Amino acid sequence: MTVIRRQEPATETSAAGGLSGPESEVHAGVGKRLASIRQRYTGGRRLLVEALIHAGRPLTVTEILDVRPALPPSTAYRNLAVLEQATAVRRVQLSGEFSRYELSEELTRHHHHLVCVDCGSVVDVTAPARLEDDVTVAAKEVAAATGFRLESHRLDLIGHCQACS
Ligand SMILES: [Zn+2]
Ligand SMILES: [Zn+2]
Repeated sequence: MTVIRRQEPATETSAAGGLSGPESEVHAGVGKRLASIRQRYTGGRRLLVEALIHAGRPLTVTEILDVRPALPPSTAYRNLAVLEQATAVRRVQLSGEFSRYELSEELTRHHHHLVCVDCGSVVDVTAPARLEDDVTVAAKEVAAATGFRLESHRLDLIGHCQACS
């Protein structure tokens, strides 16, 4: 008699990069989003997603290639564009520097960024519930006053990181 066992992923961590669930859920979510635009979850795309999961902060393409040197730059750019089109990855546009990429919040969790104006470092930060509540209430007021249909908010804190202070 043959027993077929389900293959478990070698590394399963819920702590990596501030995810709200296991890493396999992120990959499943990415795969679903790619499938919705008739794209496959190729090995190259998986490497990009893994780099973003483990960084836990928005990365420039240069930083991605530093941790995944096996990826040719042209492949990285092309696949990031596809992942962005599939809404699995979001391009983070911060003051006049290179674009950074992060996983969509629906695949990770809601967060904000600390942006250092000196060294350009960008760090993910989860805001206290009090701040989220206040921002949500204020945003709803603005939406009601302007007839805007609110979906979410983005809020980056700009300043000087500990190393640069
Ligand atoms: Zn800094
Ligand atoms: Zn927020």
